[in-house]
This record gives sequence, structure tokens and C-alpha cells, in this order.
Amino acid sequence: MNSVGILFLGSGDAFGSGGRLQSSILVESPEGRFLIDCGPSALIGLKRFGFDTSGIGTVLISHLHGDHYGGVPFLVKETQVTGEREIPLVIAGPYALESHVENVMKLFFPSPENPRSGFWPDFRILPQSEKTQIGDLAVTAYPAKHSKMANPLSLRIECGGKTIAYSGDTEWNEFLPVVCKDADVFICETFEYERSAGNHLDYLTLMEHRRELDCKRILLTHLGDSMLNRCGAIELECAYDGMSFTV
Ligand SMILES: [Zn+2]
Ligand SMILES: [Zn+2]
Repeated sequence: MNSVGILFLGSGDAFGSGGRLQSSILVESPEGRFLIDCGPSALIGLKRFGFDTSGIGTVLISHLHGDHYGGVPFLVKETQVTGEREIPLVIAGPYALESHVENVMKLFFPSPENPRSGFWPDFRILPQSEKTQIGDLAVTAYPAKHSKMANPLSLRIECGGKTIAYSGDTEWNEFLPVVCKDADVFICETFEYERSAGNHLDYLTLMEHRRELDCKRILLTHLGDSMLNRCGAIELECAYDGMSFTV
């Protein structure tokens, strides 16, 4: 059986709580390296842990919030500047991801040239509740319960004979048990310990539904201060920047 390596580049919330980088997870599967989410600090995380950004073949994006896709413009710009990429780059995510990246690039790197000139990735839209094949990766996206305009998705990713489930940002919803069913690992955002603002999962609500989550391991990520203060003192395991393991 193959093994698939997982490295948390960033396990923090949008605001750098605890000095953590924003959402991004590097996966090394027999089919190649890919990212699950690519927050603005993703390139920093990759280089901090000794990885060459040009070796990333696929980026999966959960939704259109900057802390989850804000690293994509930098990844694209770096390749446009250096020209150092020998493998294609596929970026797959929700509807409108490509136009968002293009607009951000226009704002961040003003130029008379179109941001698409030169290198431009192959963008794909992940349809909901059906399997999308990206090379040897199979990704099934499910609707998440988060800011509607961010087109939020939860992702079930199959690679190297393993299944990685990722909640993206979401409140509790009926799709989460489906997303993580029999998964080798379920990476679940838990922004806060108890529900306050909503729009995100909180630990107490997650624990109310714990029995519905039929997976081998649960790792909490996207941790805000109220969770960071409790990591190590709660039943479920918290991820941290640099955490790595195989499934
Ligand atoms: Zn977020
Ligand atoms: Zn979000």
C-alpha cells in the first residue's frame, strides 16, 4: 500500500493568531505534490520547510476567502517572473476562482500587461457532489455552510489509495459526515471553542456531532485564539504549522 505524506504549512486562522501561517496543507502522494488551500503565506511555508514551489502540480481551493486562496497570485507571479516550472499547474476550486485570481493580480501587480500574459495555470471548477479527476487525483466537492459569496466547498480527496477529507471553512452541516466517511484523516476547521460569531465550526458543536464522524483520525485546524488556548487539553488533536505524518 502506498503512503501519502501530509505537512501542515499553515494551521492558523485568517488573522495570524498564535503567529501561525494561514490555511495551506502540502500533500505528497505517489502522483505528485499538491496543496489543499493556498493562503497568502503558503509560499513562505513551502520555502520554510524546504520545498520548491515549482514542484507543486495541483492546488485545490476550498473557497474564495483570501486566507484560503490569497497565495495563488504569488504562486502564479513567481512562475511568471522566474520561468522555473517544468510541470503544469492545475488550480481547482469553486466557481469564479479564476476571475478572482486575475482581479487580485491586477490590483497587487499593476501593469499595462494582462496578468494572463506569459504563464497562466489551468483553472478548473469543482462541481458539487460529483467526482472530478485531476490527473490521478479524484476530488469530490460538497457544499459548505459559510459566507455564500465565497462559494464555499468541503473537499473529499482520493490519492495513492488514501482519502483525505477537508472541511474548508464551514458551520456544522449534514454533508460533513459524508465528506469524511471512512477517510484516513479528516482535517476540520475549528475556528473557535464555543459558538460566538457563527459562520465557522466551534469545538463544542463539533463534539455534539462526534459520533457522526466515521473516519480514522480528526485533526483540527484554522485555529483562533479560543482554540489555541485549549490545544492539548481537549479530546481532539490540534494541527500545528510543521506537523507532518503519513496516512
Ligand atoms: Zn478561513
Ligand atoms: Zn472563509
